[in-house]
Amino acid sequence: MKLDVSDALSHPGQEYHFSGTQAIADQEITGDIVRLDECLVDGCFMADEDGNIAVKGKLRTVAHAPCANCLEEAQAEVMNDFDEVFQRNGDPEDDEIFAYEGHEVSLDKLVMSYAVMALPIRFLCREDCPGFEYRDPDAVPAEPGIQYPFAGLQQLLENIEEV
Ligand SMILES: [Zn+2]
Repeated sequence: MKLDVSDALSHPGQEYHFSGTQAIADQEITGDIVRLDECLVDGCFMADEDGNIAVKGKLRTVAHAPCANCLEEAQAEVMNDFDEVFQRNGDPEDDEIFAYEGHEVSLDKLVMSYAVMALPIRFLCREDCPGFEYRDPDAVPAEPGIQYPFAGLQQLLENIEEV
């Protein structure tokens, strides 16, 4: 998604509104592929006297990934606010800043990083997903200990205290 900032550059200090959509590539996060719907973005931008462009606004989309408990498809709403300055003729290779050249500001990198930043740490198909081992009542339970990973640890701690 690109902003034409020609008018803003000739009228520093004046706010311009924008809205649109942007596709975001699939992201691999801790081994899972997270797929994101097209992102809705809206906000405003303003140039300063030096030609730097302040952009602020919000984005909204839905992310899809396997449930952390049962691996069924899960989804989560993703929302984030952003407020950044695009430096005129800044180094586009510098990851610390947002930069632009000419009369067009590309929001691709900004939207992607703010969407990824807002992803949940784990996806759940529903809030009380009981997990893998309960999905099929006839299934043979997984190895003992996996269901209650901290039970063993608790036992271990008790044993240590007794020694
Ligand atoms: Zn689940």
